[in-house]
Amino acid sequence: MSNNFSNYKLGDDILRALELLNYKNPTEVQNRTIPAILEKNDVIIKSQTGSGKTASFAIPVCELIDWTENEVQALVLTPTRELAKQVSEDVFNIGRFKRIKTVELFGGEAYGRQTRMLNQKSHIAVGTPGRVLDHISNGTLNTKNIQILVIDEADEMLNMGFIEEVEKIINTISKNRVTILVSATMDAKIDAMIKKHMKNPVKVEVTEESTEVNDITYLFYKAKESTKLNLLKDITILENPDSCIIFANTKAAVDSAENFLFQNGYNSKKLHGGMEQRDRTEIMEKFKRNEFRYLVATDVAARGIDVDDISLIINFDMPKKQESFVHRTGRTGRNGKRGKAVSLVSEIGQYSFQLLKESLGLTQKLLDEPTRSEVEKAKASFMKKIQMKPELKESKGTKLSEDIMKIHINAGKKTKMRAVDIVGTLCSIEGMTATDIGIITIFDISTFVEILNGKGNSVIKALQTKNIKGRPRVVSRVDEE
Ligand code: AMP
Repeated sequence: MSNNFSNYKLGDDILRALELLNYKNPTEVQNRTIPAILEKNDVIIKSQTGSGKTASFAIPVCELIDWTENEVQALVLTPTRELAKQVSEDVFNIGRFKRIKTVELFGGEAYGRQTRMLNQKSHIAVGTPGRVLDHISNGTLNTKNIQILVIDEADEMLNMGFIEEVEKIINTISKNRVTILVSATMDAKIDAMIKKHMKNPVKVEVTEESTEVNDITYLFYKAKESTKLNLLKDITILENPDSCIIFANTKAAVDSAENFLFQNGYNSKKLHGGMEQRDRTEIMEKFKRNEFRYLVATDVAARGIDVDDISLIINFDMPKKQESFVHRTGRTGRNGKRGKAVSLVSEIGQYSFQLLKESLGLTQKLLDEPTRSEVEKAKASFMKKIQMKPELKESKGTKLSEDIMKIHINAGKKTKMRAVDIVGTLCSIEGMTATDIGIITIFDISTFVEILNGKGNSVIKALQTKNIKGRPRVVSRVDEE
C-alpha cells in the first residue's frame, strides 16, 4: 500500500481506510501530531478547523487502541453534540477496517441506548461533558481502562462553562494517560488546565499561513434591524448560493429568519439548541447530503462542522466574539475551494464590526444595501436555482462502506449469543475468514454484523441453511441510509 501516511507506524487496516477516505498526504498538523501521539506524548494542538486536526488525533488514537480489550480505552470530549457526532464519525471511518467501536455519549439522546452500547465491546467514547459525567457517575462508563483523553475545542468548552464537568471527568481517569488538548485559541484558563493536567506536552502550533488558507471573500453590508430580513433575501438573490449557512445570535432570531425564508419559498431548515436532538442530528445529516440549500443556525453549527462546498456564509447577526466570526466563516472556503462570507452590520452590530476589523486586520468598508435594479437583475437565475433540487452529495464514508454489508441475525444475548459463536459460523462459510468480519453488535434479541470485502451476499445465502449456535436463524440484510 503506498500513501504517505505509510511513513508512520500505522497498521494496514488504518492505511486502507485513509486511502478510501482519499487522505493522500498528511497535513502539517498531522505530520507533527501523529508521531507525537504514537509515542504516547501529551500533545497540545493549536490549530484552526480545516487543518485536518480531527484526523491528526483520530488516526494515532485508532492505531493505539487494543482491539481485544472490551472496555473504553479513549475518551474524546467536545463542547457541542454536533461536533461529538462528527468526531465520532471521523473516528468510525478511520477505524472502520480495524473494527474500532465508537460510542456517542451526548444529551438529548436516549440514555438507555448509550448504556447498551457501552455494555458491548466499545473502544472509543466521544461525547459532551454533561452526559459523559452522568455515565461515569452512574457507573455505566468505566474510566478505569481509559488511556487516552482528548479535549477537543478546549477554548469553546471553557467558554461554554464546562470547566467543572471537565475537571471532574479528568479526575476519574488514570494519571498515567496520554492527554491531548485541541484549541484554536489559548488563554490563561487553558494554560492553567494544561499545567494542572498535562505532562511535558509536545506543542503543535500550526499558524493560519501554513494551513491551507481558507480562500474567503468577506463582505459587510450596512443594515437596519427593522429591515434586515428583506436585506437577507436580497443578498441571497444576489449571491444565489448552491449551499448556504445563515448564522443568527439567538434561537428566536433563527426561528424568525428561517420562517421568513420558508414563507418566501426557500428550501430552508433551521438548527439550534432548543430543538430535539433527533431533529438536530437529522437536519445536520440532510444538510451534509445537500438535501436543502439554506441552513439557518445559531453557533451550534459553527464549531468544527465539516460540510463540503458551502459556498456562502451569512452573518444575519454580527457575532459578539471574534472567535465566533472565525468559526462561522470557516465553514466556507474549505479544502481549497473559494468561499464567501457576507455579514449584515446593523446598529447593534457596529461595535462588533469595529472590534473585528481591529483584531483581524480587516480593511473592508461597509457596503450600502444593494439597489433594487441589482437585485431585479439577479432574480431570474435565482428563481431558476431555487426551484431546482440541489445535487445530492456522497457522505465521506461512502467509499468505505461500498464493500461492507450489515446483516441482522434474529437472536441475541437472551439466547446467549456471543461474538465467538458468530465468528465461528461465519468462518466456516467457504471463502470467509476472520478479516472479512467487521463490527459485531449484540443486543438482547438481535445481533448486527458487518460483512466486509463485498462478501455480504454470499454470507446471507449461506446462512439461510447454516445453523448459528445450533439452530437456524433468520438472517437478513440491513439497509441503512
Ligand atoms: P478538520 O480540521 O478536522 O475540521 O478537517 C478538515 C477536513 O479535511 C475534513 O473534511 C477532513 O475529512 C479533511 N482531511 C483531514 N485530513 C486530511 C488529509 N490528510 N487529506 C485530505 N483531507 C483531509
